[in-house]
Amino acid sequence: MGEPTRVAVLGATGRMGRRVLEVLAEAEDLTCVASVARTRSAEVSPLGPECFGDAEVVIDFSLPEGLRAAVPFLGDAALVSGTTGLTQADEAMLDRRSEQAAVLHAANFSLGIELLRTLVRRATAAFPYADIEIVETHHRRKVDSPSGTALLLGRAAALGRQVVLEDVAVMGRDGSSGARASGEIGVHALRGGDVVGDHVVHLLADGERLALTHRATSRATFAYGAVRAASWIVGRPPGRFVLSDVLGP
Ligand code: NAD
Repeated sequence: MGEPTRVAVLGATGRMGRRVLEVLAEAEDLTCVASVARTRSAEVSPLGPECFGDAEVVIDFSLPEGLRAAVPFLGDAALVSGTTGLTQADEAMLDRRSEQAAVLHAANFSLGIELLRTLVRRATAAFPYADIEIVETHHRRKVDSPSGTALLLGRAAALGRQVVLEDVAVMGRDGSSGARASGEIGVHALRGGDVVGDHVVHLLADGERLALTHRATSRATFAYGAVRAASWIVGRPPGRFVLSDVLGP
């Protein structure tokens, strides 16, 4: 076996970053060369020049502002990012970065959600008159809503209907919102407790209904997915990649 792949973790003190460090500690073919977060400690560096050392790939689970602040310090490293709540400007920043090095962003690194994405696209195409409502539940400390995964599933549903999510999405309903317009895709967020991440895509028709459900019970699922993506991306040419590139057909 050759030298292990050098990995840095951004957001290393967070719920996800800690899981990633645990997975890296077990991996024989990867080694963690830098842990970066907002807080300074003996084990963790703050963001700044050289903070990622000689990492070949940076795994990011921080916040949009953390990712924005980190991009100028990435050097030649590839980027695997799971941070959600990115704006269009953030996406454009990742596009620009991908002209220089490989970039993979995924709102959800679990295999189950990747599979659900395909199922949702097929189900919404095959059930054209069903109303689509997506409900997500996350722990009380999550800061963005709806979740990046709910948006990802909303996009899959929209693709099945051959529409653009932003044109048909209704993010929550309140007060006298009127009767439901046909073609709407409703997206709703619940927050509380220690829920790692539940997503339910409802297809509601007259006389019958279908609910496609994914429940994540451990953050390790996402951490394994991100570490697998980090192994895969090293040595790839500059460009934007997605999780299905890693998982294959
Ligand atoms: P958290 O709040 O527990 O941790 C955030 C980490 O980022 C901390 O280490 C913090 O110090 C660091 N950070 C935040 N702002 C920073 C800044 N400006 N500079 C440097 N470091 C900064 O959050 P979490 O629950 O671990 O989630 C992190 C992100 O990952 C969120 O966007 C969440 O939605 C997302 N997430 C993605 C997946 C996925 O599979 N893609 C799964 C779970 C969570």
